[in-house]
Amino acid sequence: MDITFRRRLAANQINIAKRLAVVDVEDGKGRLDLINPEILEGRDEEVGPDGCLSIPGLYGDTPRFKWIRVRTLNREGEAIEFEETDFRARCIQHEIDHLNGILFTSRAVRLYREDEPEPAGKGRRKNP
Ligand SMILES: [Zn+2]
Repeated sequence: MDITFRRRLAANQINIAKRLAVVDVEDGKGRLDLINPEILEGRDEEVGPDGCLSIPGLYGDTPRFKWIRVRTLNREGEAIEFEETDFRARCIQHEIDHLNGILFTSRAVRLYREDEPEPAGKGRRKNP
């Protein structure tokens, strides 16, 4: 079963009680499989848009690290560590939050609906 759906998904979003997630932000780097992942270190927090497959149409200005170091198992069961930045780092943090039972709505400093006008001077991406 290919559980890649849209850009990212944590197993517990589809009722699979495993610490698994997939992230594919369609940036040419391919799909990232995360098994029992943890964030070891994060730097340079910034507030940016988060959205979620589990809560269609709702978005939130959410603080996330711009740079992270992650430890995870790969598909072969080997422990690996890697660094990630920017949008891909945001998505990984979002998915690891899911695995820890945390939704972006708990972290967001402001929630808004897709059809709300944007605040002046704010950029917004759909369902990051
Ligand atoms: Zn989500």
